[in-house]
Amino acid sequence: MFDINDLTIMVPGAVREILKTLQDAGYEAYIVGGCVRDAILGLEPKDWDITTSALPEQVKSLFSNTVDTGIQHGTVMVIKHGIGYEVTTYRIDGEYKDGRHPENVTFTRSLAEDLKRRDFTINAFAYSPEKGVVDMFDGLEDLENRLIRCVGDPNARFSEDALRIMRAVRFSAQLAFRIETVTLAAIGRHVQNLSNVSMERIRVEFEKTLLSDHPEKVVQYASLGMASFIIPEETLAKCCFDPEIAECYLKVSGTEEEKKVLRLAAFFHKLSADETKRALKLMKYDNRTIKLVSGVIQYKDTLIKAEKSEVKRALHEQGKELLDFVLSYKETVLNIPVDKIRAVRDIIIETGEPYEIAHLAVSGSDLIEAGIPKGVLVGQTLSELLDQVIEDPDLNHRETLLGLINKQRG
Ligand code: ATP
Ligand code: MG
Repeated sequence: MFDINDLTIMVPGAVREILKTLQDAGYEAYIVGGCVRDAILGLEPKDWDITTSALPEQVKSLFSNTVDTGIQHGTVMVIKHGIGYEVTTYRIDGEYKDGRHPENVTFTRSLAEDLKRRDFTINAFAYSPEKGVVDMFDGLEDLENRLIRCVGDPNARFSEDALRIMRAVRFSAQLAFRIETVTLAAIGRHVQNLSNVSMERIRVEFEKTLLSDHPEKVVQYASLGMASFIIPEETLAKCCFDPEIAECYLKVSGTEEEKKVLRLAAFFHKLSADETKRALKLMKYDNRTIKLVSGVIQYKDTLIKAEKSEVKRALHEQGKELLDFVLSYKETVLNIPVDKIRAVRDIIIETGEPYEIAHLAVSGSDLIEAGIPKGVLVGQTLSELLDQVIEDPDLNHRETLLGLINKQRG
């Protein structure tokens, strides 16, 4: 049981200083939102947001180092010891006409008004060391029962801003909470409003779900009718969100990038490499992610024997970085042992055995000097030489290679 009178949050020193400076100047100030929720749950807050009755200009006048990060919404970033903390003036969101953004925001002196505009009860706590937890919407009870519930009328909240629909699923995956029944029913009714939300914002929430401790919950997006908003091409979307494959996402751990690339690849498991590329482009992913994820899909079923020449060919074709991702995918998602291949790869890299054109002891200009006409033939000849050098690295000497060319040219 969470006892509201007995909840102390260990607020970092810099955040305490900011709260105190604002309070000493006669304003109200609290930490608010996700950091309070996470701290009560015993999780490490990702960032510490502050809400205050002071107006942005008043906040700026109290601190020596500030940045106007979102001044039109009332947010000033206060820099303390090199770290930025967002300080936002209590505000009321104006009317939402586009299903995503308020027409205007009004600053207010009322904490209650500020908490009322927040999406879920568990995101609408405020806390200060003096006042303790402010819980105006029974968020503690929802934390207790592990429920995601809208603040106020869910139908109104989702028609104001449809991104909240994506966020509901995301928090349910990050926290292993259920979405409360009335909130869930309202999601069903307002899914179409997601057409007002930009792909970038949709993708961010989808990705947070996929990288959470309950990535299998991405299938909820499909069961709630959101699949085609995440991948806006029906035929592609239909092949993803498979519950059986979703069970595999959790097998992938490692660095954030490994998790991202491999879980995305598993998500697209049933697509071809070209379809994966198309889906990722529609989702507005960056080029690096597109290259790595579609690369994993392209090579995931390519057999590699734990023999030097085969591993060198894989290194040549896929590149060292992609090959590492492909091997991890085989190991974790496909349950194929790859230890021997990794051992062979390590020896190749350590001993510097050549597997790329750039590793050859001759260059294109050497070949031209030796009489090969400029043009495609130079590239072709280099490829043929590499082929032979991969089989027998002892051939990789300038004289030997030039000798080989002369022999071939008769
Ligand atoms: P995390 O930072 O862990 O992803 P968070 O709860 O801090 O989660 P943020 O997106 O950082 O989420 O937003 C901070 C707070 O702002 C939220 O806790 C919530 O109170 C409010 N908020 C954010 N987005 C919305 C929204 N679309 N509608 C209403 N309130 C929102
Ligand atoms: Mg946050």
